[in-house]
Amino acid sequence: MNRGKGKSSLGALFLLVMIIGGALYIYTSEMFERNLPVISMDTNGYWNLKKPLKISISDDSSLKSYKITLKTHNDETELQHEQFMVENKSINIEVKPPKSAYAMKDKNIKIFVEAIDVSKWNFLNGNRSVSEFKLKIDKRRPQLSIVSNSYKIQKGGSALVIFKAKDDNLKNIFIQTNFGKKFQAQPFYKDGYYISLIAWPVTERNFKATIHAQDYANNESKAYIPLYLKDRNYRVSNIKLSDRFLKGKIAELADEFAETGGVVDSIEQFKIINEDVRAKNEKLIHEITSNVSEELINNFKINKMYPLKNAQVVAAFGDHRKYSYNGEPISESYHLGLDMASNAMANIKPQNSGDVVYSNYNGIYGNMPILSHGLGLYTLYGHCSSVNVNNGEFFSAKNVVAKTGKSGYAMGDHLHFGVLVQGVEVRPQEWMDEKWMRLNISDVIKSAKDIIGKE
Ligand SMILES: [Zn+2]
Repeated sequence: MNRGKGKSSLGALFLLVMIIGGALYIYTSEMFERNLPVISMDTNGYWNLKKPLKISISDDSSLKSYKITLKTHNDETELQHEQFMVENKSINIEVKPPKSAYAMKDKNIKIFVEAIDVSKWNFLNGNRSVSEFKLKIDKRRPQLSIVSNSYKIQKGGSALVIFKAKDDNLKNIFIQTNFGKKFQAQPFYKDGYYISLIAWPVTERNFKATIHAQDYANNESKAYIPLYLKDRNYRVSNIKLSDRFLKGKIAELADEFAETGGVVDSIEQFKIINEDVRAKNEKLIHEITSNVSEELINNFKINKMYPLKNAQVVAAFGDHRKYSYNGEPISESYHLGLDMASNAMANIKPQNSGDVVYSNYNGIYGNMPILSHGLGLYTLYGHCSSVNVNNGEFFSAKNVVAKTGKSGYAMGDHLHFGVLVQGVEVRPQEWMDEKWMRLNISDVIKSAKDIIGKE
């Protein structure tokens, strides 16, 4: 009896060990893994029915099959399915829209993705996961049309464009140029209308600008801005560096700038100041003057600029300066403002109100306030002896912004007057010319408002 009982309990123990061992095997074996397949779709929630949907499925063991279904609120279409005979731990699927999708009335659809793996878990059926993706169908390109624009643009100059861009899912509007710069547009007058100043940099041989409107479903419309291009020759000045200049102003500036620290050779000092320091100072200017507000504006009014009374122009805008020493070319740069001089420490009156966006020392530009006049238009006043405004203040048109001087890289007392459009230096002369401003700015706005008002 005892022996028999001993035998059966040993048998029971053996069975228990087998069951636990088996369960442990199932629990830990890869064949019985319990992780669900992972499904993802590369989407922002919109589909233009042009590009295929990109779906990825992965699993810890291997995938057995998947099925993709499109559901509208009253219909269901199987888009794609596949069964795998060989191991497949992860797959990337491209799903093309069904022909019927183009006739679909429903703009809101769901994509169901079902995936099953080869695991023996779940009574040998495998792990099954289902993901649902809600998509908005948008096949329409944004409506885009130009309402009004300046008739021409000259090399180094500015122009204005006003256009209409409408789309239910509008994402992006910008103006692309042939030289890489993108100009931003600002909402104008009525919903769906935009305005932008654009500029042809003096250093660019050619100019072309195209408006792009994109929606969230990646539909895109383009409109080329029809401008008559007026080429313009800018002066090339060959300047011989004198010892007096190098031992004077350059030595003085070299003492001041960190970039010339430890450099004793005055030609080298000049090169660093004219190239490295200039590039750093201009980078700061471009950053400050690139901002455009996204607020809707009803109008854009600007007075003729005339910052210095009874002044003489002492250096032109766009001058390409080539420097040499003892017949050897040393360095070159572009002069991107208009130099004006009257008497020393003369009052500078911008004639336009604006926000003070910078009021500090800026290397070769010396003491330099910058005003923002809206629509991405900025004015800059370099080499000042004293500045009357503080950063962040509102500047009123009747006031004096600063006094002329020779701070920074300046030989005599003068004003370096800069005008910038979204970070691009432009011809100040245009903004000092009443006729140009009427034809290219106020008339363009007036005719656009007439057209928009009738729509
Ligand atoms: Zn200058």
